[in-house]
Amino acid sequence: MATDERKLVDEQIEALFASHPPADTPEREFWGAQFDHGLAWVQHAEGFGGLGVSPRWQGEVDRRINEAGGSTRNRYLNVLGIGMGAGTIMAHGTDEHQQRFLRPMFACEEIWCQLFSEPGAGSDLAALATSAKQEGDTWIVNGQKVWTTLGHLAKWGLLVTRTDPDLPKHAGLTYFIVDMEADGVDVRPLYQITGEAEFNEVYFTDTPIPDDLRVGEVGQGWAVAMTTLMNERVAIGGSVSPRGSGSISLAVEAWEKLHGQDGDPVQRDQLLSYWAEAEAMRLTTLRAKEAAKQGTPGPEGSTAKLHWADLNKAITSFTMDLMGPEGMTYPGGYEFTRPDQTSNRGTSAHKAFLRSRANSIEGGTSEIMKNILGERVLGLPGEPRVDKNIPWREVPRS
Ligand SMILES: Cc1cc2nc3c(=O)[nH]c(=O)nc-3n(C[C@H](O)[C@H](O)[C@H](O)COP(=O)(O)OP(=O)(O)OC[C@H]3O[C@@H](n4cnc5c(N)ncnc54)[C@H](O)[C@@H]3O)c2cc1C
Repeated sequence: MATDERKLVDEQIEALFASHPPADTPEREFWGAQFDHGLAWVQHAEGFGGLGVSPRWQGEVDRRINEAGGSTRNRYLNVLGIGMGAGTIMAHGTDEHQQRFLRPMFACEEIWCQLFSEPGAGSDLAALATSAKQEGDTWIVNGQKVWTTLGHLAKWGLLVTRTDPDLPKHAGLTYFIVDMEADGVDVRPLYQITGEAEFNEVYFTDTPIPDDLRVGEVGQGWAVAMTTLMNERVAIGGSVSPRGSGSISLAVEAWEKLHGQDGDPVQRDQLLSYWAEAEAMRLTTLRAKEAAKQGTPGPEGSTAKLHWADLNKAITSFTMDLMGPEGMTYPGGYEFTRPDQTSNRGTSAHKAFLRSRANSIEGGTSEIMKNILGERVLGLPGEPRVDKNIPWREVPRS
């Protein structure tokens, strides 16, 4: 079985490279062809960017593309789409959604954002207040979202709304795909400590959404949102980069530049210990991916997310210690920009340190990851949830 899968994947890689040499084909054209060959997300069905094989083969596909001089950076440029939207649309979208959205998403012809968090609903996402009211075949949306990563570039958004305030909070939600260029959508930048505005606040004022952009049934928005969040945790904490890359490479670089052979042995031990931990985490993630079944990731994605956030913060802080006074400068200046990708990757040690502070908040806080692991993996008693069964309209809000 595994041999058959390898053969199929190999054949498609060879055919793709023959028709679209990775080093010489423009990126977006290459990604489109990669989708057509079923090598975008190999576990999905044929015709939808996949081959219906184990997701373990995706790492092999991406490695060979990179080795052949191609690029897999679409996974970062369109992280909300490829990392979360694709899995959601495959699990809950209609055939039309799958045909219409997946290819341009993978080719980065259309960028996506995630419109979940609100000023009064982050960890407690089910408390959200943005309303959608049905008028014939159209839904009219009003409300405010916040922390919308790459919202300034997005053509499409993954949106959760409240469609029935008289039901308990989890029951009255409905999920939509929203056109970010529709009437009444206002995207405003929010600046972070890095100086960049990766994310935004988004206001909806009487924004129309056609009913055929609803994902899942009316009132089933919580289940669809859970699929997005499970994919998000894997997309954030579960990507497998080459050995020694990422924040540990910045620590090693700082060590070699500023300390080298004569450095403090205690710091050298600490560096090696972080390197080993980063490698252990990389291999654990790789193993988890190999073992993963097709379909929506489970709560185990929270383990990788939790560990990655703690480790990344520790390594980037240690790098600042290694750099001493140089760590207090900010090379390149502190210019406010609106980037075209999240700055978790390909960045300076200084920016990596500042950006890593968000790791234990984005995609669900570390406290929430621990709650999920406690309740859903370890089977510990759940938190008291006093508002679970009362109508959302009657839940006190500040
Ligand atoms: C860089 C970045 C990018 C983001 N991008 C997006 C995006 O694209 N789209 C989007 O929708 N959202 C996005 N977010 C928002 C993110 O999902 C929320 O910030 C996060 O879920 C926490 O919600 P909150 O900020 O409202 O904090 P709160 O929920 O108010 O939490 C405040 C504190 O209380 C703790 N806490 C809350 N509830 C519990 C509990 N039950 N048990 C223990 N502790 C608890 C939290 O851990 C936290 O420390 C992004 C955030 C960041 C930092």
